[in-house]
Amino acid sequence: MDKIGHFINGQIITEGDRTQPVYNPSTGQISKEVLLGNAKTIDEAVAAAKAAFPAWRKTPPLKRARIMFKFKELLEQHADEICRLIGEEHGKIVHDAAGELQRGIENVEYACGAPELLKGEHSRNVGPDIDSWSEFHPLGVVAGITPFNFPVMVPLWMYPMAIVCGNTFVLKPSERDPSSTLYVAQLLKEAGLPDGVLNVVMGGKETVDAILEHKDIEAVSFVGSTPIAEYIYKTAAANGKRCQALGGAKNHAIVMPDADLDNVVNSLLGAAFGSSGERCMALSVAVAVGDEIADKLIAALQKAMGNLKFGVHSDKNNDFGPVITAEHKAKILGHIKSAQEQGAKILVDGSDAAPAGYENGFFVGATLIDNVNKDMSSYKAEIFGPVLQVIRVKTMEEAMQLINDHEYGNGTCIYTRDGEAARYFADNIKVGMVGINIPLPVPVAYQSFGGWKRSLFGDLFMYGPDGVRFFTRRKTITQRWPSSSVREGAQFSMPTL
Ligand code: NAD
Repeated sequence: MDKIGHFINGQIITEGDRTQPVYNPSTGQISKEVLLGNAKTIDEAVAAAKAAFPAWRKTPPLKRARIMFKFKELLEQHADEICRLIGEEHGKIVHDAAGELQRGIENVEYACGAPELLKGEHSRNVGPDIDSWSEFHPLGVVAGITPFNFPVMVPLWMYPMAIVCGNTFVLKPSERDPSSTLYVAQLLKEAGLPDGVLNVVMGGKETVDAILEHKDIEAVSFVGSTPIAEYIYKTAAANGKRCQALGGAKNHAIVMPDADLDNVVNSLLGAAFGSSGERCMALSVAVAVGDEIADKLIAALQKAMGNLKFGVHSDKNNDFGPVITAEHKAKILGHIKSAQEQGAKILVDGSDAAPAGYENGFFVGATLIDNVNKDMSSYKAEIFGPVLQVIRVKTMEEAMQLINDHEYGNGTCIYTRDGEAARYFADNIKVGMVGINIPLPVPVAYQSFGGWKRSLFGDLFMYGPDGVRFFTRRKTITQRWPSSSVREGAQFSMPTL
């Protein structure tokens, strides 16, 4: 059986006894095994990254950027292979995998602007003959820890930016679908990246803890579920590291009585069930304002859901694929059952769905639940499956209160034709990424991505301008070249103009 190894100092390493199976979620079969690293593996990766740092730090940003230009070309050339690897281990349909890759490539494109991004800030004559400027210096060895649901895009949120800023990197991808991540990292070597600048260590908690405790790692960028994000943030901070830790979500769409219903239905189908709902920006709750729009919405959704196709990742006619593991499927089914037990109405139940020929795959069909309320455990939790819950409220204020009271604050959107309502919503909602008639308001690569409340621990969003700030530290230099005419005596008060 194929063993997925580490990538340290430009070499694939497959020695090691501890492994974990990697499944093909469409068939439910084990397809490969992945090595599980430990503190020693992290030590080796950090040593390689540390050794590569001095030369990489001195490499001009333009040269670093040229490697990214080449990397982008290689990502495009190898897109089919990357999407196949994503599909085989994640289950994402090939067209959705292509979308993931494209959004990842856009982060590489942004990183190609390194010379511009790292120009710094200059002030001339802050005092007589005195100039002052800020430079953005790399931190050193930095690390990224990533989730299963975007095995290519989320790592590309992190290391292209970290690397063009002059850092060297240790990546710990999800152990559940690591092949595409590893393949993409090797393309960066092919693009000309010196060995040791990017290293990939496979594993689970043990490797993560070794990263958090390693004295030579300066910063940790994390994306995953909220309990782990909180643990990462606290442990990294306790060990003196800079940290940004993005967590889970529960994204609500408010459907106002004046919304364009066809648009709402199409948007909700894609945003609730696309990628089997395994997106941190998935719209998993529709909040209908008034029973009239709720009834119309539900009727239209039920009709449209009858035409949804789900199945194997390689069939581009499918709308979505399986969920990641059998355990995750059981968790999703548990939420559907608990909603029913707590008084919600299951209108479309995907619990027993299995596409012909893939009966052992980890499939859950699209599920629609009405009459959900804020006290139900399935509402409080992030289900992370193809399940859309409907909550009925009387007013927009009530809808906004629900969202503002929820533990998570990643994404949200409103469907309305009323500009005043939309503006009020955008201004007052306590969520980091807001859509107005846009279901998945994922910021483009030249903005930055992040949530509020318990969807993000830390101060800076991911990628874009915040990414540059996260992966650099500012140094401000103030200079004067004294000539005989400007010599001064000792000055004991704070210098002012
Ligand atoms: P996860 O939290 O289980 O795992 C994420 C990473 O943490 C993996 O690399 C994993 O190996 C590691 N990990 C898991 N358990 C650990 C532990 N006990 N100690 C230390 N490390 C541990 O998340 P997942 O299931 O892979 O991904 C899905 C979650 O990620 C969802 O909650 C989703 O909302 C979230 N997510 C958030 C964003 C965002 O931008 N906010 C984006 C994508 C995914």
